[in-house]
Amino acid sequence: MPLTPHHHATRRRAATALLGSAVCVCLLAASAPAAPLGIGDRLFPHLGNPGYDVLSYDLALSYSGSNDQPLQAVTTIDARVTADLDRVNLDFARGTVRSVDVDGRPAAFTGAGEDLVITLEDDLDEGESTRITVRHTSDPAPAGREGGWVRTADGLAMANQADAAHLVFPCNDHPSDKAMFTFRITAPDGHTAVAGGLPAGVDRARGATTWTYRTLHPMATELAQVSIGRSTVLHRTGPHGLPLRDVVPTRHVAKAEPWLAKTPGQISWMEEKAGRYPFATYGLLLADASTGFALETQTLSLFEREMFTDPALPAWYVESIMVHELAHQWFGNSVSPRTWSDLWLNEGHATWYEALYAQEKGGRSLEARMKAAYEASDGWRAAGGPPAAPRPPEPGRKTGIFRPNVYAGGALVLYALREEIGRTAFERLEREWVTRHRDGTASTSDFVRLASGIAGRDLTGFLHPWLYGTTTPPMPGHPEWRAAARDATPARRPVTPAHRPGASRE
Ligand SMILES: [Zn+2]
Repeated sequence: MPLTPHHHATRRRAATALLGSAVCVCLLAASAPAAPLGIGDRLFPHLGNPGYDVLSYDLALSYSGSNDQPLQAVTTIDARVTADLDRVNLDFARGTVRSVDVDGRPAAFTGAGEDLVITLEDDLDEGESTRITVRHTSDPAPAGREGGWVRTADGLAMANQADAAHLVFPCNDHPSDKAMFTFRITAPDGHTAVAGGLPAGVDRARGATTWTYRTLHPMATELAQVSIGRSTVLHRTGPHGLPLRDVVPTRHVAKAEPWLAKTPGQISWMEEKAGRYPFATYGLLLADASTGFALETQTLSLFEREMFTDPALPAWYVESIMVHELAHQWFGNSVSPRTWSDLWLNEGHATWYEALYAQEKGGRSLEARMKAAYEASDGWRAAGGPPAAPRPPEPGRKTGIFRPNVYAGGALVLYALREEIGRTAFERLEREWVTRHRDGTASTSDFVRLASGIAGRDLTGFLHPWLYGTTTPPMPGHPEWRAAARDATPARRPVTPAHRPGASRE
């Protein structure tokens, strides 16, 4: 359902006309057409909005029990104003907006592109705090656009990466603006709701229950997760007493349990590589849906249920995908990309640890995998652009930035770097990266700078051709490796030889 704007302009005009000429100047300025704004992301020009920094979201969702009815929702945003504003743009592209309040007063609003444009009665000044409350619906109906709500056999889950959180709730939908989240989810008896973060209360009323969850660390909108379903929540303990909970369709618990029991060991393995797990909880959400991908939603990674109930999949493969999403909690979640062109920092690292785990625990050679990636690399660069300057997505297919050039191509950059600076320096760099930028955002140039600092020499001349070159540089230590001729490589080659048929991304 398209955004349905309610125009309050008529009532406003009548009210302001009584207040004299000074106000009329503002009214003229404010009556310029509302326009969608962005923060200038090269790949998603209209994503995010200038002029404010969201500190927290409070997202209250009420589910009827049917995926065919929109959820009733109230999104409350606390933000710090970073530039003088006479309007506030939020990203929001699906659902009906019923009302908007700014600091407790009703405000006029309209839709423009994928933005909800709010006209302020009183301008906001740089440095002020503001609270914006939007009463709206959140519509899980299929709408010919990827992302947002995922309809499962028994309820709903979310898959908002890269630019689809604003199909679910109004927000500043860019990973450079991380914020704290509170989720309050009301669902009828028989359903269980779980969201990212730690539980913060359960209120049972006649026929329905409200579950509250809070993040203890800032989170990007794309990483929000809310699960509503006929689920069982399985609890266990990870390293250092870390509380773990998995959300599983109740009838699939027995088959899934042997896989889920592997998570504590995987976290310990990742902690040996990258240092302490960065959040207050972790777990897997097994969605009864054919998504074609897994997604590292913060503290509660999303997987297709079938991955854990299909006996045909090899164990090393299932486990390495579990480790891929786990590794993202450090690389991509705790440290978020500054722009979407930095996506290789997420996917390259997650693929790296996925491959390293497959080698250490499954006997699958990392070097052989990297050699195969090297052979394909020029083709990936031709099709999708270099790892750190990916091609924009095709219209209507925005997950098109999730290409092999940032997955195995990104891991190949890390392999080249490790060959160049040595294992000890590389491992120090990895730990220092997630320590220094914990709970923050970081860019490719931050990574090059830190790598140079740790190696004790400027690595710009080495890394830039790897990150930005149209062809693949020679591999240090492997001068005999050759990239296949470009035209010999199909543009839509699978991500890796091990990649699951049908899965488009992780
Ligand atoms: Zn991934």
